[in-house]
Amino acid sequence: MNDSVKKMALALGAGLISFTAFSQQGDPKLTEVWQPVPKIVTPGNTPSDAPSDAIILFDGRNLDKWRCGKNADTTQPAGWTVANGVITVKKGTGSIETKQRFMDYQLHIEWRIPANITGSGQARGNSGVFLASTGAGDVGYELQVLDCYNNTTYVNGQTGSIYKQAIPLANACRKPGEWQTYDIIWTAPRFNEDGSLKSPARVTAIHNGVLIQNNTELKGITQYIGTPYYKKHGASSIKLQDHGDPSEPISFRNIWVRPLD
Ligand code: MG
Repeated sequence: MNDSVKKMALALGAGLISFTAFSQQGDPKLTEVWQPVPKIVTPGNTPSDAPSDAIILFDGRNLDKWRCGKNADTTQPAGWTVANGVITVKKGTGSIETKQRFMDYQLHIEWRIPANITGSGQARGNSGVFLASTGAGDVGYELQVLDCYNNTTYVNGQTGSIYKQAIPLANACRKPGEWQTYDIIWTAPRFNEDGSLKSPARVTAIHNGVLIQNNTELKGITQYIGTPYYKKHGASSIKLQDHGDPSEPISFRNIWVRPLD
């Protein structure tokens, strides 16, 4: 066999191999999807900064997006303190909640336990993020805020727990006095016309970059005593807890939300 015949044989062989591979796997274009095109969202400078489509719930200036959540009277203004770009719980004024109501969302919130925190167990920097406020007072689904850096309590009530329902996957607490982040993905529960549950609430939460709740299915609204249960509701406020104990006040900043429905 001379060189030109050898080259031709090699080329034919290579062509046969590529044809066989193509026919075994099919046309890759058949599995390409081109619609719908995701919307463009311009990210913030860092993952903590609000992206372009976020609703800013607190920008460091005022509590205009919030109201008092203590009573059924929803016209009462939020009673917490705003100073130096930070909201601080004002003990006894009641929890505060967003005026706007949400179904599914992505939420970013930053919180700080005071450096000089005192107390122990549940009485050490206790607050909380009620992912959906379903009634006046502290009624709803609570993601716990607490100092557990060097503090022991029941594990289904520690920082990052769904209070008395779901133990966090990790304790990612920073020291009191340092700012901490929660990034939360909330899927609201759905209900049938007759009030029965259609699909439960779900939550994924990341604490200081660490996954602490992984698509956790909720059993109902948070109960201090007894077992959680569901009661029909629709879009709801997001509420921050005034736990009202003697602990030094907790602060919040940089709160933004992206509705997902
Ligand atoms: Mg709490």
